[in-house]
Amino acid sequence: MNSHVRSQAHTAPFARVHRPDAAEIKALARELGADLVGIASAETLNAFPPDPRWPQTPERISPHCKSVIVVVQRIPVGAFRCKSNVPVQYIDMLVLRKMDKVAYKLAERLERWGYPSFCTAAQETEWTLKRASYGRLSTRHLGIEAGLGTFGLEVNILTPEYGPRVYLTGVLTELELEADRPMTEQVCIGESCSRCLYSCPVDAVEHFGIDKRACATEAQEFGFSTILQFLERFSAASNAEKQRMAASRDVFGFWQGLLRVVGSFGDCPRCLAVCPVGNDYHAHLAGPQKEIPEKTPEKVQLARDMKASRQRGDAIDGLNEWNIRWVGPEGYKGIVSRQLQEFKKAQAERAGKA
Ligand code: SF4
Ligand code: SF4
Repeated sequence: MNSHVRSQAHTAPFARVHRPDAAEIKALARELGADLVGIASAETLNAFPPDPRWPQTPERISPHCKSVIVVVQRIPVGAFRCKSNVPVQYIDMLVLRKMDKVAYKLAERLERWGYPSFCTAAQETEWTLKRASYGRLSTRHLGIEAGLGTFGLEVNILTPEYGPRVYLTGVLTELELEADRPMTEQVCIGESCSRCLYSCPVDAVEHFGIDKRACATEAQEFGFSTILQFLERFSAASNAEKQRMAASRDVFGFWQGLLRVVGSFGDCPRCLAVCPVGNDYHAHLAGPQKEIPEKTPEKVQLARDMKASRQRGDAIDGLNEWNIRWVGPEGYKGIVSRQLQEFKKAQAERAGKA
């Protein structure tokens, strides 16, 4: 390489050589492999942190961020048709890897065009905020602010395309882009559906809320709190007991988690598998996931109580003046049945042509 070409290669990424607009950025993200993409303004994210007491905002990370490009990767539906949860646990990790690569390449391209950009660690916990799974940014909220979906009863983001069977990350950029508008219609069918609540093995689903600790016992079987509990028991155990514990399934689970992430998070797919939002559900899950073996009369009664409570207009934390923004202030207006009708019509047309 001659010296002129080399100097160009070094300087080009730091000059503003191209100013892409929102449409170009979205086309690029799709070309790189994103299943969905949206844009949220940093100003809005700074003004509406999920919990103002513990603000997960771009400005806490960088004072220069103008926009967050939200990249969504769907979880392949085949994994939810299996006899056990294991395939979902493994595929989760592959989805996250792919998503991080897409986001990284997008950030890299923006820098080549002259706009400092980087991607967030989607699954990391920020210890200076809450001592639970609580990231520097909440990717669910990023997705909602970027117009990609709204909260479900179990406070996962529900995208109309793939329901909650998605992972999200964000690219923080100093390029100002036209932001998408959040959806105002509630995507979640709500209390009259409650299939996520019925499926939850540890009753962690609340009224547009979640008991994170209870969920972690299933979703992070070999996660951080299990490791802590194990170490506490281990340090108090006799030598003979220590030897037994060192060869236990727990230690194998920790090792496997380090190796493949399997077991350390995203371990329980039940509320994702049964949610009837999304064409992936209509096409491939409606049959295998129709029956929910975990459903009990007590859970059915709880869902009825929630419905009655909402109808009475009781004070409900998950639906208060601050949180309703992410649930969909207009309430449920039938998006899932409209989508199902369109899906069936398209299927019938395809069958007619075949
Ligand atoms: S991931 Fe599993 S344990 Fe957690 S809320 Fe969903 S169904 Fe319940
Ligand atoms: S299963 Fe039903 S209630 Fe639960 S998030 Fe999905 S649509 Fe909402």
